[in-house]
Amino acid sequence: MLNPRKNPLYTLSTAFKQTLRHPQKKLLLLGFIALGIVTLGIKQELAKAQEAKITNQQIAYVNNWQNASFPVENFQGYTSPFGPRGGGFHYGLDLAAPLGSYIRSWWTGKVVEVWEDGRCGTGIVIQSGYWEHVYCHVQGSVETRNGRRYLVDRGGGIMLLQGQVLPAGSRIARVGMTGRTSGPHLHWGLKYGGRWVDPGLILREMYAQQTRQLSRLERR
Ligand SMILES: [Zn+2]
Repeated sequence: MLNPRKNPLYTLSTAFKQTLRHPQKKLLLLGFIALGIVTLGIKQELAKAQEAKITNQQIAYVNNWQNASFPVENFQGYTSPFGPRGGGFHYGLDLAAPLGSYIRSWWTGKVVEVWEDGRCGTGIVIQSGYWEHVYCHVQGSVETRNGRRYLVDRGGGIMLLQGQVLPAGSRIARVGMTGRTSGPHLHWGLKYGGRWVDPGLILREMYAQQTRQLSRLERR
């Protein structure tokens, strides 16, 4: 015969029966169960976050970046990284460059959106397969003609149509001060399959791959 005290199912049901007779104990038990569920939830969230971190590095690593373009000319430095910032989260990388410096499309793709708002200012989204690259605070404004939206920056000779397809490295805009910004910079955001990715990871991997390619060419 099973020893009822060593049978966990029995012990649990007995505990419930006993708690019916002792309401305070019942509350305590429910409290423990709730705490267990919350702790489990936090653990799962952490596991998910860690998994996402590894996957983003893997995403950066497995792609071929040899034809990718650095997104801005006259680059001066990184002014704000991807990550938590002032109680919120900064979903991009800030690259400082003098006002009017040309911004280049990081990858061959289609202009899926041009818009203006109070935060990003004049913004562009380009789609390249599963990737979406976002450019904020650029010069110029969005206009509509014959039902087509386009970004126009007459001083920079830029006219970017929504729906237009561009090769990697194309000049798409110029660094401006539109939206919420304290100095001229490009806010550059990257999404893979709808999930934000740290552009710093991609730039590091691009640099590593392009350096390896260059040293191979030099050895020939
Ligand atoms: Zn930014």
